Amino acid sequence: MSSSIRHARMHLAERPAPGPVRNARPAVLVSGRDAPANGQTLRGIDDLVAAGLLRADAGPALAEVAERYAIAITPAMAALIDPADGGDPIARQFVPDARELNAMPEDLADPIGDEAHSPVEGIVHRYPDRALIKMLHACPVYCRFCFRREMVGPGGKALAGAAFDQAMAYLAGKAGIWEVIITGGDPFMLSARRIEVLMQALAGMPHIKVVRWHTRVPMVDPDRVTPRLVKALTSGGKAVYVGIHANHPREFSPAAKAAISLLAEAGIALISQSVLLKGINADAPTLAALMRAFVENRVQPYYLHHPDLAPGTAHFRLGIAEGQAIMRQLRGHLSGLAQPTYVLDLPGGHGKVPIGPDFLMPQADGRHLVSDRNGSVHIYPPDAPTGPAS
Ligand code: SF4
Repeated sequence: MSSSIRHARMHLAERPAPGPVRNARPAVLVSGRDAPANGQTLRGIDDLVAAGLLRADAGPALAEVAERYAIAITPAMAALIDPADGGDPIARQFVPDARELNAMPEDLADPIGDEAHSPVEGIVHRYPDRALIKMLHACPVYCRFCFRREMVGPGGKALAGAAFDQAMAYLAGKAGIWEVIITGGDPFMLSARRIEVLMQALAGMPHIKVVRWHTRVPMVDPDRVTPRLVKALTSGGKAVYVGIHANHPREFSPAAKAAISLLAEAGIALISQSVLLKGINADAPTLAALMRAFVENRVQPYYLHHPDLAPGTAHFRLGIAEGQAIMRQLRGHLSGLAQPTYVLDLPGGHGKVPIGPDFLMPQADGRHLVSDRNGSVHIYPPDAPTGPAS
């Protein structure tokens, strides 16, 4: 997610017609070797019923949701869910909901439009100095709000063979690319060997200085973060950043903290990504706890995404004004270290823009009215002091 993580995003030039998608995924998919090794991941309605995460009578109503959008809940995430809490914020992220079939006029199958910027398979090149590499389309979990939900799912193969070579050749030939962002799906689903192959290929491109990974794995499947994986990530001699996607402070389990620590101890710079989600984290106390948890675990808060217009996700969305009001509360009560940038990814592939609350109001005389954290307004520069000169 990402992105969004969210991880980096998928785009289309035009809004595709909604419809069944499970057979319409692109060719860049996860290989059997890279598929989740943990057989206990919950992957269907029956699994969720058996685990007590859905009532048995909910199954028929959700069959169409399950047919349309992939389901996966790792043991790590399932363990955090309180089945007795109908509003559990972990469950809401992963347990399917009949509202996912509600089509809204504004929904977009590809909410932020990467396809128009994909010169070769597996590459999205929208900005001059950076490009995305989409290595696979599988994830350890399938988030119900995912902006790429029409594209991600289990099965298939990773970007490999001639397609991988072509993607690397494209990057090698573009001297202006300074940073590559590795995304998917979730690229931490790749084996350490495949990550090493990628890092070695990038090592031969001196113009690429920074490699950024976007992943949910440290939170949702932390056992995948091993010393072997960390060694592979750092094997290319580049500055490595990992964007970690989490949406609720309860995701910081002891195992997740240990996984994050493994990355931090290796000198990998860690940044956060979260999605502002109604019913999960769209209130100042929850977001404050989430951002503090990131900072306490050496993850620099980076992006808080306004929810995208992904199909069947309207029940997670809130208005931009509501998001700004929450951000204003954070500004007043949270350390500057823990302030994410609230961003909107514009549909159509026009990129991200910060949409945080505006504290400045320009005045005709060139000065500004500035609202403080309590909402009081001040003129800047202030009026000259009046009274007798000394
Ligand atoms: S389903 Fe996968 S790509 Fe989508 S938000 Fe979740 S982890 Fe990221």
